[in-house]
Amino acid sequence: MKLQFTLTPPAEEPPAEPEEPLLYDLAIIGAGPSGLTAAIYAGRAALKTLVLAGSLPGGQVANTETVENFPGFPEGVGGMELAQRIHKQAERFGATIVPEEVTAVDFSARPFTLRTYHAVYRAHTVIVATGALPRRLGVPGEDRLFGRGVSTCATCDGFFYRGKRVVVVGGGDSAVDEGIVLTRFADEVTIIHRRDQLRATKIYQQRALANPKIRFVLDTVVEEILGDQKVAGVRVRNVKTGETAVIEADGVFVYIGMDPATQVFAGQLELDRWGYIVSDARQHTSVPGVFVAGDVQDPYYRQIVVAAGTGAVAAMEAEKFLGEYPPTERVKSGLDEACCEVE
Ligand code: NAP
Repeated sequence: MKLQFTLTPPAEEPPAEPEEPLLYDLAIIGAGPSGLTAAIYAGRAALKTLVLAGSLPGGQVANTETVENFPGFPEGVGGMELAQRIHKQAERFGATIVPEEVTAVDFSARPFTLRTYHAVYRAHTVIVATGALPRRLGVPGEDRLFGRGVSTCATCDGFFYRGKRVVVVGGGDSAVDEGIVLTRFADEVTIIHRRDQLRATKIYQQRALANPKIRFVLDTVVEEILGDQKVAGVRVRNVKTGETAVIEADGVFVYIGMDPATQVFAGQLELDRWGYIVSDARQHTSVPGVFVAGDVQDPYYRQIVVAAGTGAVAAMEAEKFLGEYPPTERVKSGLDEACCEVE
């Protein structure tokens, strides 16, 4: 199946459960670098693998202009191209990739059940790789200038701001930590926070306060991102005085938190207080047989290479799990009766 980047309209009626549900060794939810790397490893381990790619496959990387820090691409690679290459590689090793969104799961019994708008699937193991999305400010100019000076990744884009002025929005660990990272490139980093107290841990605050390139603008919100073809600055408002001002800048880095895509797993898997899936160092979740990979369990690194690495680990752990707890249910998919162990 070709990579599709179009929305899949939901069926009018929820699917009736088929008498013989589609059964796989491994179902992977999500088709970003972590999910598709898991699919490559699972395919090579001869697991009958389904990838439920959602309506917008590719993950965040597909929306990234250029990726310069993925090993093997010394000149950099377009985000969309990288997504398509990983997709092709997963298909080459036999993964079935469908552009369907998971609407409900039942992890209370094996085989696990996954519902989409179109079908009901069952799988002996599952890898959740649904990712997380950076929150947006939702102010005028943000969408239009995204990728043209507005960014949510200093590690990816900081390099382009050598000798320039940037603004960072947010007051948490990410904003302050990434603000410090940006001082390696930019001459001036202005951190704009909506309160007079930072949320970031003390050590980051101390480092930032000691850094001569960083200045804080507190009690202030960004009301608009300015610029025509590229960012020229931000219009801000002091929430206490109501005063407005323009801060000139070449780049705006938005770090106001991430939203892990875990809504359908609430009540099924243990989540931390920010909604990330809790896992151990080997990508096991709170449910034996369900593993997790990528940004949906990683509030810290959020890098393609790290996501891919956790995808590989999750697939190897799923394979090991299937060896230790072989499926006992007869294969009823009718697609490939030879795929799985039978009673
Ligand atoms: P976060 O801790 O939730 O901080 C988000 C920040 O953005 C807060 O300061 C918040 O303001 C502000 N904010 C939220 N919505 C906003 C809006 N609409 N407009 C303006 N400002 C807004 O998120 P995070 O910094 O991404 O960190 C997430 C998790 O990852 C945390 O657990 C963090 O400790 C962890 N993390 C750790 C490290 C590290 O240890 N190296 C690095 C990065 C992240 P308020 O403070 O007013 O709510």
